[in-house]
Amino acid sequence: MSMKRTENVKCPHCGKTSEFTVWDSINTDIDPDMEKAVRDRSAFLFHCPECGDETYFDYGFLYHNMTSKIMIQYADSDEMAEEFLDAIKESENMEMLEDIVNNDYTVRVVRSRNRLIEKLMIFDAGLDDRIIEIYKFMVLLKYQKEKEECEDPELYFYCGDDGKKAVFIYESGEYICSSGLDDGLYKELAERYGNMLPEMQKGEMFIDENWAYSFLTGNVEEEQ
Ligand SMILES: [Zn+2]
Repeated sequence: MSMKRTENVKCPHCGKTSEFTVWDSINTDIDPDMEKAVRDRSAFLFHCPECGDETYFDYGFLYHNMTSKIMIQYADSDEMAEEFLDAIKESENMEMLEDIVNNDYTVRVVRSRNRLIEKLMIFDAGLDDRIIEIYKFMVLLKYQKEKEECEDPELYFYCGDDGKKAVFIYESGEYICSSGLDDGLYKELAERYGNMLPEMQKGEMFIDENWAYSFLTGNVEEEQ
């Protein structure tokens, strides 16, 4: 089910308080319009009825698509991440968890809205986010090697409307460059690493840079 509530928010422009819908949980099978609204971020856009100003509000929520069997918790705090993991564990004997285990659900926890939207872009393109994280990590290593000084580069997968895929590199929020990912290269990576990917554990929902680092240092050494 979807869960939403009305909150009073203060417009950062005029300072007046107005109502705004905040979603704790979005089930896109029940609210199909939210599928697009999350992706284009309009779900988080507050239009001030007093001054007309527009502001994006950022908050954690659960994104659930039962048809695609995807559940992504965007946790905007450690507490929210823990609560979600506990809720999954506690639902051990419940129907939902059985569904998750038996029907090959993809369950993830991310720590920013941009990361949530990135995951959706990966899944929408029909790709395995673990292969994408492996590729992103390789791109990161190459970038750090070539560029002597870099400030915490952030890498995001991107798939354009034309289906062209790439990894975009940002530093301090500024776009620096990109590294293309064509279908052939993806296939090659999937063939090389696919059978090394462990069966996903219930607790292994954080598929990110750290996961890719652990996976590659654990497996590539063994391979040599
Ligand atoms: Zn206002």
